[in-house]
This record gives sequence, structure tokens and C-alpha cells, in this order.
Amino acid sequence: MREITKIAIANRGEVAVRIIRACQELGLKTVLLHSEADVKTRAYRLSDEQICIGPADLSESYLSIDRNIQGILSAGAQAVHPGFGFLSENADFAQCCKDNNIVFIGPWPQAIRDLGDKVVAKRLVDEEKIPTIPGYNGVSQDPEVFATECERIGYPVIIKAAAGGGGRGMKIARSSLDVRELVASAQREALSAFGNGQVFLEKYLDNAKHIEVQVFGDMTGQAVHLYERDCSAQRRHQKVIEESLAIDLDPQIREEITKAAVRLAKKVNYVGAGTVEFLVQNGKYYFMEMNTRLQVEHPVTELVMGVDLVKAQILTMMNRTALWRQSDLIPRGHAIECRVYAEDPHTVGVPSTGTILFQSFPEGPDRRFDYGFEAGDVITTHYDPMIAKVIVWDETRPRAIMKMIATLKDTVIFGVKTNIPFLLDMLHHEEFIEGTLTTPFIQKYFPEGAPVKSLTEKEKLFLERAFSSTAASGDAEATAPSPWAQMWRIT
Ligand code: ADP
Repeated sequence: MREITKIAIANRGEVAVRIIRACQELGLKTVLLHSEADVKTRAYRLSDEQICIGPADLSESYLSIDRNIQGILSAGAQAVHPGFGFLSENADFAQCCKDNNIVFIGPWPQAIRDLGDKVVAKRLVDEEKIPTIPGYNGVSQDPEVFATECERIGYPVIIKAAAGGGGRGMKIARSSLDVRELVASAQREALSAFGNGQVFLEKYLDNAKHIEVQVFGDMTGQAVHLYERDCSAQRRHQKVIEESLAIDLDPQIREEITKAAVRLAKKVNYVGAGTVEFLVQNGKYYFMEMNTRLQVEHPVTELVMGVDLVKAQILTMMNRTALWRQSDLIPRGHAIECRVYAEDPHTVGVPSTGTILFQSFPEGPDRRFDYGFEAGDVITTHYDPMIAKVIVWDETRPRAIMKMIATLKDTVIFGVKTNIPFLLDMLHHEEFIEGTLTTPFIQKYFPEGAPVKSLTEKEKLFLERAFSSTAASGDAEATAPSPWAQMWRIT
């Protein structure tokens, strides 16, 4: 086992900060491998060393295996943490690290390879008798074969890329009319986005919950689960709000999916943190895929389980920690995470770029803010516009919802627009509060983002006074709402 004293971070934004914090707490040095566009970021300021690996363009920096390997070697780091996205699920990168005697903080390349291909993963899962969604994952990629298979499966059908990820490239065929065209365009998109044009079919479950199980494996082939998360609040198949545990999950299903997830992890000798995703509909569960990396929404599990998954990942690779005993892993309370994006909340996710002029997160008990940018930093068009994750924990779900609403209302970000009004609308929605929401929730109720609200009389008065040349009288100030509390409405 190689001694690790310095860890390279092949990522950016809030997850890079998250990893730096874990390293600091473990007494390890960090080196940030960043692009030219990411100098004015929190990770840049917090890391011990910084190496520029290329220009903003992803293929020449964050997605370049060669440049990342060169950066790691030139910094003399013994290990690399890939975070999520970018090269985190790239088996070739993991292999290249191994070949260069660099510890890749994640599973072995073979596990990434087997589980990264959704078609191969489904075959492995079939062997374990874990239910999968009915569909077609045959070798033939002939649109005619797909059309016949769609008839057999029954519409609606979802077309997915075998190498896909990040909710991209999926298409839903609702009738035989346009299926050939949809298959062909999905194949083209898959080839250009993932370098592999293979697509497959699944029955589209139109009223399902997205439930995923956190697993963790060690070097000896043992694995445990850390219960589940509910990530049903999604926009275009991408998660926006996540919770742990899942609301009202049938205990029998919980028992079965957690056991199935651990079986799968053990089958592939899984090392470190991984997530097994399921769809649950009408009392039945179906395996969807396994993500072989840390998940964006890992903090909700950390808060409910009282663990630090990133430190556990690092210590596992250093062989310095024993795996948790399953019987010691007992969830407590409820946690919710909201992804805060720089975007116009009243449109369907149009990014809002620019410099953050002011930012303030309201501290409080069991509130956590994972953020990658501060006042003075620029949100560019180059990358995903997520600014921060706001995570709260409380003893019950209703209290956690109340805490999240209070926290978001007092969160102030000036300079770029944010989706906070949209998040608040969702948190207030009856289906959200009752916990009955399924994956079409956002599309069904917020197809255009948050509805534009008209200002209240108080807000109008406040704005008039704030922007009039004469200062407001003391009396008027007393009745005007606080600009800090109200500004989220004025986007
Ligand atoms: P990715 O790897 O791109 O994230 P996933 O396979 O994890 O893709 O699916 C992402 C989301 O897409 C799911 O959470 C779900 O909302 C939707 N989805 C995927 N497959 C199906 C399906 N068969 N039926 C209904 N929704 C699906």
C-alpha cells in the first residue's frame, strides 16, 4: 500500500472544496488540477497547490486523461480524487492511474467498466435475480428492430444510451409514429456525447419514485449499505432536491433494495462509495443503474447516518479504517438537499452568468452549505452553473422542510439570478409536503419553472422607496420588509 500524503483533485466547484476539507481534516496536502477558467474559485484559494492543466474547454482540461495524469505526477501526489462527473466514472482514467502508480480514490477499473455500461450492468443484475425494468438491450441497433421491440414492450418506452449519464440523451417514445426517428437521433447523440452510439429500451414508468441506495465497500470484498435517498424531484431527468431517508418507503422494499445493492457491490468487489439506483412504482422496485462514484447528494446520507463518506473513501484507499459494521449504521432524523443553480427561476433552466457580488448563507443548527464560489467569483458559461448545495437536517421530515424553507429564504446571492424561488415553490407544493411526488413532478406542475409572482403591496412600496432619490422616513422603514429577507422574490 502506497503511503499517501498529498491528494490531487481532478474536479472543480463545490465538490473540490468538499474534498479539500476532508483532506485538511486528515492532515493531507491537496493539489487542485484546474482549468484556466477556474482561478477565481474557492477550491483554488483553499487548496495547498494549484496546477493549471489546460484551457476552459473540457476536452483539453477536466476530461483529458493525459493532462490530469501529468498534473498528478508533476505535483508528486500519490492519489487522486475524481469527485463526480468529469473522469470519475472513466475506467480508462482509473486504469491509467494504476499504471502510473497513482491511487485512484474509487473502485477498481474493472468494476467501473462493468457497471458503467448500463447494458452490461443489467446483465450482472439479472444474474443476481434483482428485478430490472422490462425492455430491450440486444446487440442489433437497427431502428426496425427497435420499432418491433417497442410494440412488444408497450408504449411509452424510454430510449437510453448504454454509456449515458447525467440524465442526458434519454428520449421517450409515446407511440409508433416517431419511434424510428427518435431511436436514430438518440444513437447520433449518444455517439457524439459519450463516444458510443449503442442505445437500449426500457418501459417508461410514468409515475415512479427514484430511490437509490448508498453502498460502501472495502478492500477485503465486504460491503455495507447506508440506507436510501429519494431523488424524485427532477428536471429533465436531473435531480434538483434530494432527501434521506425516502418518505414512506415500504419497509419490505427497503429491506430488499438495500440487500440487493450490497449483493451487487460484493459481486464486483466494489471499493469505496457507490450508489445503486432503483425506480419504485406500484409497490414494485426495478434496478436502473449503479453509479461508481461519490454522488452529488451524498451529504443527505452523511447527515442522517452520521458519517463522512469522503474521509471514509480516502481512509479506505489508505487502508487505515475498518468498514462500518452494518448493525452500527442506524439512520436518525431526516435530511434534505437543494441544489442552488445560477439560473433564471422563471424559465426552464436558462443559466444566469456573471460575477457574484454578494453572497450570504444563514448559519444555524444542522444547516450545511457546500459551495464553490464567493463574492467576486464568476459563474461562466463553460460549466454546470451549480453554485452551492444547501443541506439541512432535523428530527422529522416536516421540520426539515420548514428548516429548508427558512434557510433558503434567508440565503442571499446578488449578481446572478438563482433558482431559489423555484426551490421554494417546490418545497411549498402539496405533493412535496405530502411526499407523494414522483419523477414527473416538476414537468407536471412547473413546466416553465417557477411562476412569476406579482409583488405584494409591501414589496412595491419597499422598491419604490429603495430606488427613489429621497431617503425613506424612519417610520416607513419600520413597515418595509427587510431587503435581505425579500430579495429572493425580486428576480
Ligand atoms: P443517468 O445515468 O443519465 O442519470 P438514469 O438511468 O440514472 O440516467 O435515469 C435518470 C432518470 O431518468 C431517473 O431518475 C428517472 O427519472 C428517469 N428514468 C430513467 N429510466 C426510466 C424509466 N425506465 N422509466 C421512467 N423514468 C426513467
